[in-house]
Amino acid sequence: MKKPLVELSDCIACGVCAEVSPDVFRLGDAGYIEIAELERYPEDEVNEAIKYCPTDCISWTVE
Ligand code: SF4
Repeated sequence: MKKPLVELSDCIACGVCAEVSPDVFRLGDAGYIEIAELERYPEDEVNEAIKYCPTDCISWTVE
């Protein structure tokens, strides 16, 4: 299954991904991006988040 992955060391916690794809990405209380556990991830939304992430730290992984 394809799942989004955030390279946290490059993430600046700008929140853009959570705005573009709120079902998948969430800015957690600790200030880190969290990825929801879903059966399927909405590809178009995640691809938008990948496109708009200012540090290019979101990618797809296959589990
Ligand atoms: S858009 Fe990128 S840099 Fe911004 S919070 Fe999301 S993963 Fe982090």
